[in-house]
Amino acid sequence: MNARETKYSRQDSPIPPLVKDASLVGGNWIASSEGLSFSVFNPATGSKIADVPNMGEKDVVRAIDAADAAFLKWRSLLPSDRAKILTRWANLIEAQADDLAMLMTCEQGKPLSEARAEILAGAGTIQWCAEEGRRLYGEFLEGPKSGSKIIVSRHPVGVIGAITPWNFPASMITRKVGPALAAGCTVVLKPAEATPLTALALGALAQEAGLPDGVLNILTSARASEVGKTLTSDPRIKKISFTGSTEVGKILMSQAAQHIQKISLELGGNAPFLIFPSTDLEKAAAGVISSKFRNAGQTCICANRIFVHADIMQEFTDIVLDKIKKMKVGAGWEQDVAIGPLIEERAIEKVKRLVADAAQSGAKILTGGSVHALGGTFYEPTLITGLKDEAPIAREEIFGPVACLYSFEDESDVIRRANDTPYGLAAYLYSADLAQVWRVSDGLHYGMVGVNEPLLATDLAPFGGVKESGIGREGGKYGLLEYTDIKYRLFGA
Ligand code: ADP
Repeated sequence: MNARETKYSRQDSPIPPLVKDASLVGGNWIASSEGLSFSVFNPATGSKIADVPNMGEKDVVRAIDAADAAFLKWRSLLPSDRAKILTRWANLIEAQADDLAMLMTCEQGKPLSEARAEILAGAGTIQWCAEEGRRLYGEFLEGPKSGSKIIVSRHPVGVIGAITPWNFPASMITRKVGPALAAGCTVVLKPAEATPLTALALGALAQEAGLPDGVLNILTSARASEVGKTLTSDPRIKKISFTGSTEVGKILMSQAAQHIQKISLELGGNAPFLIFPSTDLEKAAAGVISSKFRNAGQTCICANRIFVHADIMQEFTDIVLDKIKKMKVGAGWEQDVAIGPLIEERAIEKVKRLVADAAQSGAKILTGGSVHALGGTFYEPTLITGLKDEAPIAREEIFGPVACLYSFEDESDVIRRANDTPYGLAAYLYSADLAQVWRVSDGLHYGMVGVNEPLLATDLAPFGGVKESGIGREGGKYGLLEYTDIKYRLFGA
């Protein structure tokens, strides 16, 4: 990752707490077997936080050995005993929420309030999974012949290979590790190279909570494809759980075919956000701001295309513009900051390219549109109108603080436009007309639809997409079932 000069200096950066500079394998904190490491940077200041091990194939195999050795014992524990350990882990995370949040803000850049909310949500996920793990019920059926019986039961799939992205350094991990451990699986986790420190801190707390050695192994690595190949070529890994780009998801899916590993993929999105005239415009504008600008626009469920009915376009634009102009950009640990830096050089280059293309094709940039005066990877919160559906900014995931408004007049036409993408993760609609809400939400070909509500992630519900946005669900009872195999037993009379 490239660090970039910003107007902040190294002295402006808080010293992050809970920094670990080793990987966790079989209960031991270890360096790479080849003595390699890579650096983790603070995206707000460009300064280095730590060097962590750059693990390769041999280290991955060692972690799989540890997870495989721990599996039988972990799966044999009573669900209630696993739940006790997981509950202790959740409590420790909650107790250290402030420090964990600061660590996350320092390595990822998001505002401290968002980081803290994510840490608490992560603790909540582990707690929820601990409880749900006690309810992995089976089924009893009368069999096909007189007197015969059928029992259907659920069993942990085995060792899991988990690969996570940098945009939610805690919750992407708890959403995989929580259900996997609760179901009785063991895990080899590779967090994103930009944000491994939150993952390691969570691992240290898991140890403190009494998680047995080898149940959770965390490998830091900047050799992602080598790690992916090793995880998918080892038949002891029974499932791959990945969150990240569609491009990498496709690679992992084809690699996982080798041993028919199960796979869950939570991939990219291109979320449409539909606003109909009957809605409360203030509420819809607040929804757009929250959906679009959280994490500086770097979420896979961010409103990517905001479709506004022509009758309310001007009024709605004015409300959103006013809100965007008030957003403070800065380092995440500063008071009242709404937008932190983007994660890295590549991210800001993409946003610059998309906005430049939009401007060139005649779109109107109502505010923002440039790298922020703070320099580095800070980008101005931006509002654009007058775009065409064919523009790259409408087709690609923006992953930056840029809101794009598109006008529509006809309900069925806007549903068609909203669905005109290979992605199918999240969609949103704001309307006070109940019949319209049913029609439109039925018509949207997406895994999740927020109706008059911008924040979709909750432990209670199945998070995930259709089409090229992925396979499988995280959350709710469905999230745990992803980590189980079904066995059916037939008892003759
Ligand atoms: P993003 O573009 O958001 O960084 P990526 O899909 O590149 O998304 O990264 C998400 C996660 O996938 C990260 O942990 C990254 O290291 C990992 N990754 C990237 N390429 C590969 C690969 N070829 N095989 C396995 N994991 C990969």
